[in-house]
Amino acid sequence: MYVEKFENISKKDVGIAGGKGANLGELTQAGIPVPPGFVVTAETYNKFMNDTGIFNNIMDILNEIDINNTKELQNSAEKIKGIIINTDIPEDITTLIIEAYNALCQKVGTEDVLVAIRSSATAEDLPEASFAGQQDTFLNISGSESVIDYVRKCWASLFEARAIFYREENNFEHSKVYIAVVVQEMVESEKAGVMFTVNPSTGEDVALIEGSWGLGEAVVSGSVTPDTYYVDKKINDILNFSIADKKVMFEKSPSGETKQIDVPEKLRNERVLSEKELIELTEMGKRIQKHYNAPQDTEWAFYDNILYMLQSRPITTLDEKSSSDNSSVDELEDREVLVKGLGASPGMASGSVKIINKIDELDKIKDGDIMVTTMTTPDMVPAMKRSSGIITDEGGITCHAAIISRELGIPCVVGTGNATEILKENNKVTIDGKKGLVFEGEFKITEEKHDEVATSSQSTAPIITVTDVKVNVSMPEAAKKAFATGADGVGLLRTEHMMLTSGVHPKKFILDGKEDELIKMLMENILKVVDVFYPTPVWYRTLDAPTDEFQTLDGGEDEPHEHNPMLGWRGIRRELDEPEILKAEFKAIKKLHDQGYTNIGIMIPLSQSPDELKKAKEIAEEVGLKPHKDVDFGIMVETPAAALMIEDFIDVGIDFASIGTNDLTQYILAVDRNNELVAKNYSEEHPAVLKLIKRTIQKCNEAGITSSICGQAGSRPHIVEKLVELGITSVSSNTDAVKDVRHVVAKSEQKLILDAARKNK
Ligand code: PEP
Ligand code: MG
Repeated sequence: MYVEKFENISKKDVGIAGGKGANLGELTQAGIPVPPGFVVTAETYNKFMNDTGIFNNIMDILNEIDINNTKELQNSAEKIKGIIINTDIPEDITTLIIEAYNALCQKVGTEDVLVAIRSSATAEDLPEASFAGQQDTFLNISGSESVIDYVRKCWASLFEARAIFYREENNFEHSKVYIAVVVQEMVESEKAGVMFTVNPSTGEDVALIEGSWGLGEAVVSGSVTPDTYYVDKKINDILNFSIADKKVMFEKSPSGETKQIDVPEKLRNERVLSEKELIELTEMGKRIQKHYNAPQDTEWAFYDNILYMLQSRPITTLDEKSSSDNSSVDELEDREVLVKGLGASPGMASGSVKIINKIDELDKIKDGDIMVTTMTTPDMVPAMKRSSGIITDEGGITCHAAIISRELGIPCVVGTGNATEILKENNKVTIDGKKGLVFEGEFKITEEKHDEVATSSQSTAPIITVTDVKVNVSMPEAAKKAFATGADGVGLLRTEHMMLTSGVHPKKFILDGKEDELIKMLMENILKVVDVFYPTPVWYRTLDAPTDEFQTLDGGEDEPHEHNPMLGWRGIRRELDEPEILKAEFKAIKKLHDQGYTNIGIMIPLSQSPDELKKAKEIAEEVGLKPHKDVDFGIMVETPAAALMIEDFIDVGIDFASIGTNDLTQYILAVDRNNELVAKNYSEEHPAVLKLIKRTIQKCNEAGITSSICGQAGSRPHIVEKLVELGITSVSSNTDAVKDVRHVVAKSEQKLILDAARKNK
């Protein structure tokens, strides 16, 4: 079978049509409205390679490559692609492709119909192996000659340098990986986007639909912040939606190319999907989910008011049982605990240990491995994303590894003391990220079904709380995930990760006369968050960087070596000593504010005296940013001084105070939060800590100032319950905790009403 219409292909045909082709065939056969098309099968590619005699030639080149020599790899890739592109396709193959294209034109009723030509790679014996995104896709192609040319380009793209590298790294034999090519009518959609048939971050039975104007590329590539809609699938009720400012769109240019243009002014803030369209989409989602018997991640488009489905695949994040807090493991009790630490990010994960002693060892970590290291740094984030679990020797619940793992949703155990010594390279282990335990061996991890049922039935109706439940964000790239929690804004946007991932010390930008670049970098990062959350507020916290964390940066050589960086040159005290950095941060916010992002607030960390607040406000004024007018301006309550003198800060003028219990606890109890030796002495529930939290909330309430919390205590349901009783105005939690916190807040609020009613009887 060399060329086959979608109608004759099903999901069983992955081996010949590739994942994409088989999927489109399956949907077509199921009666789902898919734009028509055909597949040039993997067999055709094989025939081309063998009949023309170029196969051996190409294999010889591949056998010679040292994939770690980037230049050599690139050169060989170019050479192979050149061979394929310059070799004529035998006539028996071209005839079949031309016939199939002509039949498609006839079916659609247009001469030279515009088509999308997409690669769909597949591996012999392992058809389900994923090569997603490694090969090329070409849009808006028309005419049989061009179709043939682009089919050949797709074949050549099997030998892109990155594809060769991937196959070598993952031990796929080049000769056993084939490529099918999908040729499909282009839908020049007026609106398009994606639909998850269940909420991908919570698993709730709610369709999450994202949509924007023009071709679907805008949403899929992340070039635009789309509108977001949540639809209750049981009663087709729209639970929630947010209309984004959609700045760009893709459309076909007169020359046939896809190009990015600005969205016309009047459509930018216009709602994309009507209620009728949302219901039609949701119904379609239900049909597809039923067909596959599993939640799906789909792409859709409306063209001339007709709905088309362009793609459907299972939602992979739901299958990542390792990162689910609802997971449980059989027979844990019988297993040996190898190391213990602090449960820093909930969930269970099994995998092979990879010990990272030096940063250049990160390549060792392959998908699903367990990273074991002394302490993570921002350079490690790409490898952390590949890991199924993380274990560190050092650190407490609020260290870098803990914060980032929670945001990525990866189980993590920190502060084990000696995991890098005890655990052995390549041994299989299982992590319990809630209890802080690391067991020997791999376990069968299963979902706790009763939990899921309980949660989904609880969440069929949205929970309304008067106390705002917000979310903390440390990595701008995780903003969408944070937004999907349904949070009422961002109660803490940390700056440190943005600075650290730039690789350059902020001071170096200034010393090199590159303030503009620093401002640009900050704007790009902050934008990712304020845009997703617009119009709900995002409180940006100015830089709070302990000196030890910034030493590895370019320009970080001059950072002082402090005995106790936690008590050292950090937070607002340092920013006032180096006001150029603070100024750059304020300038970035001013520019975003001028672009219409009126949802940004500024939060000052580690204040110890009202004078610091006064000076920070003056610096904001200097760059043209008016505190309390352009931006809400507030402080973090992280020192006993701030908690004991909150009235004096209120006198200077603040819109809000957010309690940072991570630092407040360490300073009240004299316990270094990063020192695992004293982790047992660290408690946010110590009466002295609770006393100062209570004082802060009361004084804010008396003055009519918003009070909030963004330390880890705000992610602990039983503490949040108390805070609501004390009258806190908002709570900001980690992404993984928002849902539970929302439940507790609602319960606590209802209890207060009930108690008051009972008292009045
Ligand atoms: C805190 O101290 O509670 C806080 C939220 O800030 P960080 O953890 O970034 O120090
Ligand atoms: Mg802090």
